[in-house]
Amino acid sequence: MASVRHRPLLLLLITLLAIPTSLSSQSIIQMPKKRHRVYASDDSLFCDSWRFSVETNDAGTWSNIPSRCVGFVQNYMTGARYPSDSAAVANFSLSFAKGVTIGGDGKDAWVFDIDETLLSNLPYYQAHGFGSETFDEASFDEWVELAEAPALPASLNLYSQLERLGFKIFLLTGRSEYQRNATAKNLLFAGYNNWERLLLRGPSDQGTLATVFKSQKRSDLINEGYRIHGSSGDQWSDLVGFAIAQRSFKLPNPMYYIA
Ligand SMILES: [Mg+2]
Repeated sequence: MASVRHRPLLLLLITLLAIPTSLSSQSIIQMPKKRHRVYASDDSLFCDSWRFSVETNDAGTWSNIPSRCVGFVQNYMTGARYPSDSAAVANFSLSFAKGVTIGGDGKDAWVFDIDETLLSNLPYYQAHGFGSETFDEASFDEWVELAEAPALPASLNLYSQLERLGFKIFLLTGRSEYQRNATAKNLLFAGYNNWERLLLRGPSDQGTLATVFKSQKRSDLINEGYRIHGSSGDQWSDLVGFAIAQRSFKLPNPMYYIA
């Protein structure tokens, strides 16, 4: 009888003894999760700062994205951030364009790059490590020949609005003359039309740095009397050098760098 009467006390004692053990176990179990979160955050922070450095050109020439940033770049390119950043650039471009006085002589120009500016090669880079693999020209050329690259939606909208405002649109690309037909076909497929001129690398332009090639082509346009108000590109080599536009707009691209 005595042992039955004391059973509730015994149960209470067991419960009280069990509580600290349970709390202690929980904190031990949680430790790896906490550490994991810190490491994940470190990678994310590192890669975000790396992305900032390449977008601002502080990183200078680089070839492949850091291996620890493949997941970060994948998330950036396939998530909401890439279209959001692209739309922000397009919105600032349009605000500037709306303030330009169009002369009425057909000489007000806007220059667009093509790859990762008007057309997105994300389907190709998704299959090639998001810039973590060494660039393979042969497989990329095969992709270009397919002429299936989709438009960057924000750029397509900007393009249409600029056309409506009265700008003459010039397409200046590092692609080669032999890719002219595939490039024009792809642009039309993606919804672009009525460009004034499509400028590609001719045989004499091969081997020239993109900055020099594009500057020379802009210079030729200026010599023809065009006023280059704006220029849009995903590479600094699309925008800097000489004969630069009044305003240059840098689109995001953390996947590759062209000098
Ligand atoms: Mg480009």
